[in-house]
Amino acid sequence: MPKITFLGAAGTVTGSKYLIEAGGKRLLVDCGLFQGPKELQQRNWNNLPIDPASIDWVLLTHAHIDHTGYIPRLVQNGFRGPIYSNAATRELCELLLLDSAHLQEEDAQYAAKKNYSSHHPPLPLYTVAQAQTSLAQFREIPRADVFSISPEFSVRPHDAGHILGSSWLELTITENGKQTLVVFSGDVGRYDQPILKDPESPTHADFLLCESTYGDRDHPTGSVPDELADVINRVAKRGGAVVAPAFAVGRTQTLMYYLRELEEKQRIPHLPVYVDSPMAINVTDIYVRHKEDHDADFVQQENQGNLDPLNMKEVHMTRSVEDSKSINEVVAPCIIISASGMANGGRILHHLARRLPDSRSAVLLVGYEAEGTGGRALEDGAQYLRIHGEEVPVKAEIVKIDQLSAHAGRSELLRWLSGITAPPRQTFLVHGEPNALESFHGAVTGRFHWPVTVPEYLQSIDLGTQ
Ligand SMILES: [Zn+2]
Repeated sequence: MPKITFLGAAGTVTGSKYLIEAGGKRLLVDCGLFQGPKELQQRNWNNLPIDPASIDWVLLTHAHIDHTGYIPRLVQNGFRGPIYSNAATRELCELLLLDSAHLQEEDAQYAAKKNYSSHHPPLPLYTVAQAQTSLAQFREIPRADVFSISPEFSVRPHDAGHILGSSWLELTITENGKQTLVVFSGDVGRYDQPILKDPESPTHADFLLCESTYGDRDHPTGSVPDELADVINRVAKRGGAVVAPAFAVGRTQTLMYYLRELEEKQRIPHLPVYVDSPMAINVTDIYVRHKEDHDADFVQQENQGNLDPLNMKEVHMTRSVEDSKSINEVVAPCIIISASGMANGGRILHHLARRLPDSRSAVLLVGYEAEGTGGRALEDGAQYLRIHGEEVPVKAEIVKIDQLSAHAGRSELLRWLSGITAPPRQTFLVHGEPNALESFHGAVTGRFHWPVTVPEYLQSIDLGTQ
C-alpha cells in the first residue's frame, strides 16, 4: 500500500516535506526548511523519523527555501539520490541554497559572539561548502512532460504561476499493478499577474494536497499600477526618493515590470532606478532567460523590437558595496529597490538610514512584513527605526501596497480547485497557519462537499485504505 508521511508544512506554512513510500521505495516531495519561531526552527535540527540515506529521490515543486532549504542538511545526513526539478528551479536553487547557507553561517557566528547557542561552539545548520555539495545531486526534468522516476513513480509537472519554475505535480504511483494519482499543489500563484503564466488547474486526483497560506482571506483588489503611479509622482514632485525593500525572487521582477510599463505609458517621469541587490540582479537574469514560463503578454512585449520588459530607461544594477553606498549621494528623485524584503538585514538598511529622515521620500512596502522586522515597524507607524545601532527618525512617507503577493488568495485557491471534476478520495490541507487551515476547510467542504482533512506533523496515512 502506498503511504504518505507529513514531515513538514502540516499545521504551519514552512518546512514542506512529504514522504511517499511505495514498492519499498521512498520519494520525498519538497525538502523545505522550517522558518519563523524558535520552536519551529528547532525541527531543522531534529533527526527525521527515517534515515535520509534510505530516501531514493527528492522531487521539487519550486525553489523557495521553505520548499528546498533542508536539502543540504538531508545530503549531509546521508541522502545520496537525485534531486529532480526543472531547469529554472535548479538555477534559482543554486542562488537560494548558497544564500541560505551563508545566512546559517552568519547566524552561527553571531551566536558565538553573543554566547547564546546551545551548541559549543555554535554550528551552522549547514555551510556554504555543504550547500555546494548538494547542488551536484540536482537533475533536470522536463517543464511539463511526463517524467518516469522509477517503475513505482512518474510525475507530470504543471504551471503553478507562483514564482519562476513553480509547478504543481501530478504523481502517479504504481504498486501491484494498481495506480494512484496524488496531486501536490506546491504553492499556487495568482491569476492575471505580469510575467508568469496563470496557474493551470488539476482535473482529477485520487489524493490531493492543497496549500492554504491564504485559505482565510483574499488580497485587496486595488490597481497596483495606479497606486504605484500615485506614490512615484508624489515623491518625484517633492524631489525625494522611493525606497522599496523587495524580495530578490519574484517581487523585484514584478515591481520592475510595473515600473517599466508606467514609464512607457508616460504615467510617471523618467527616473533613475537602482536595483541594489546582487541576488535580485542574478534572479532577474534567470527570469528573462526562461521563456517557457512567460505569459502571452510578456512574450508580446519581448517581440516588440528588442524591448526588455523588465528594464526601464535608466536602470543601474549595483553589485559592489562601493556602488551601493554611492547611491547615498544621489539627490535627484530616484527609485531604489533593494533587499531584504522585510528590511531586517541587507543593503536596504543603509538606504533606509539615508532616506527615512527625509520627509520628501517614501518607503514602499510591497510584501508581507513579519512581526519583529523593520518592515513591520514601519507599517505599524514607528517614529524611529533602529538601524546599525542608531535611532533613525522616520520622516518619510510609508506606503503599503498589499496586492503583490505571489500566493493565491482564498477565492483563487477555490478557483484552482474547481477544475477537479470528481471528488478526490481525500484532500489534505497543508501549508497554512491553523486559522487559515480551519477556515479553508470550511470553504472547501462547503463548496465541493469533498472529504477534507488537516494532517498533523509527522502523521502517516495509508493511501490504500483511504
Ligand atoms: Zn513558495
